[in-house]
Amino acid sequence: MTREYPDTRLFIAGDWRDASDGSTLEVRNPATEAVIGSVACASANDLEEAAQAAQAGFEIWRKTSPLERSAVMRKAADILRQRVDTIARLMTLEQGKPLEQSKIEIRAASDIIDWFAEEGRRTYGQVIPARNPNVTQLAIKHPIGPVAAFTPWNFPINQAVRKLSAALAAGCSIVVKAPEETPASPSELIRAFQDAGIPEGVVGLVYGVPSEISEYLIAHPVIRKISFTGSTPVGKLLASLSGKHMKPATMELGGHAPVLVAPDADLDRAITQIVPHKFRNAGQVCVSPTRFLVHDEVFDPFVNRFVEAAEKITVGDGLDPDSDMGPLANERRIPVIEELLQDAVEQGAKIETGGKRVGNNGWFFEPTVVTNAPASSRIMNEEPFGPVAIINRYPDLDSMITEANRLDYGLASYAYTTSQSTTHRFVHEVAAGMMSINHLGLALPELPFGGIRDSGYGTEGGSDAIQPYLDTHFATIHA
Ligand code: NAD
Repeated sequence: MTREYPDTRLFIAGDWRDASDGSTLEVRNPATEAVIGSVACASANDLEEAAQAAQAGFEIWRKTSPLERSAVMRKAADILRQRVDTIARLMTLEQGKPLEQSKIEIRAASDIIDWFAEEGRRTYGQVIPARNPNVTQLAIKHPIGPVAAFTPWNFPINQAVRKLSAALAAGCSIVVKAPEETPASPSELIRAFQDAGIPEGVVGLVYGVPSEISEYLIAHPVIRKISFTGSTPVGKLLASLSGKHMKPATMELGGHAPVLVAPDADLDRAITQIVPHKFRNAGQVCVSPTRFLVHDEVFDPFVNRFVEAAEKITVGDGLDPDSDMGPLANERRIPVIEELLQDAVEQGAKIETGGKRVGNNGWFFEPTVVTNAPASSRIMNEEPFGPVAIINRYPDLDSMITEANRLDYGLASYAYTTSQSTTHRFVHEVAAGMMSINHLGLALPELPFGGIRDSGYGTEGGSDAIQPYLDTHFATIHA
């Protein structure tokens, strides 16, 4: 009998293999807590082989023309699309999100690959006019070298695909350390590239003890570029390690996204869009709207309508077509969210709906709405990374903007207003890498995607996203 969920292996030098010491970790279904499979846990020997394979792969891929690279990438995107139903099921089994959300993630990943496949054909340099007519001056873009990428469990494919696509489009090889909690779907992403004919060693995939892998690969002389998505504390650690080894890094870290709701906001539109967006993937999204900063004039109707919409959300196993929201992906998040809520209530906040774990089998948590959490409460400062919306009242636009900018985070932000002058203020005064006003428009392949301040640096979308994978080589030539 074939099992519904496979054991995941390492992919090194074009070969799927177990860890050299046979070590594995268990994988659980967050909706049932049942062990559904295992993932190979790389040893130092495996990591060494992965790094050496990446070097060999780089020598091949850097000399492959951008046109050929693009063809392989587009083929991988097509393969992924053809396999969307099978891979989505694996993703829901290991991560918990509703099946339809898994399918959307995989289709979006294919679009990202296609977009970077094209963009890789436009890594233009410059011809710089010379002072001497006999001199030609060229600034040429070369791939930076083998990349080490570290990706988290909330979007098992999409967090990996942005790094993978940008690196491959630029001509780099890459070793991905994908999430141990959700290993099977990212391994299908890598398999799509294998089946599309990517040369041996150009992509590698490892799992294991995150700190051991990052320490090994970031320090490794073969690796020339680091990219990490995850929490701010881990990001700071890996950024300092990268700096120690003089390796450029892209850091996509946490956020605590403000949503500014002005007195002239279209509340119908705001509620219809932002409530499902808040509870998408059970709130385990770096750009999840979290602090709702609502003007006094619309506070009461906004809260009432938000609560009403939140209470209509059906929580359940992501494989059940009636589920709007699945479980949390990790059991460890439940006590963290409970503590944050308890602290907020002790400081005077009110839980309008939700606030508790659902049942005792599976890591489900109720869609939760909290009001009047003081700025001193932990939840107003720490990322809940779960299905919790905090809605607070503000007397004017100035105090809303001040609160939006109070934290060191600066990833996503949202706003609802029908006023042109308020829009102008929000765009220019809110400190965030991204702002979406009156609609949900973030994260398309062609758009910049990244944070500022403690939310990290570098962009993983748009035409700038390839640049960190390229070096500039200057040549001046006398005739
Ligand atoms: P965590 O800080 O333990 O881990 C976050 C991620 O970093 C995980 O994928 C983990 O495997 C990885 N990691 C941890 N230590 C590492 C190391 N030394 N080297 C390399 N990788 C390492 O937190 P968690 O409980 O897994 O997730 C909760 C927090 O993580 C949230 O508060 C959120 O800020 C953050 N997170 C952010 C994103 C994002 O999209 N930016 C995604 C997932 C998690």
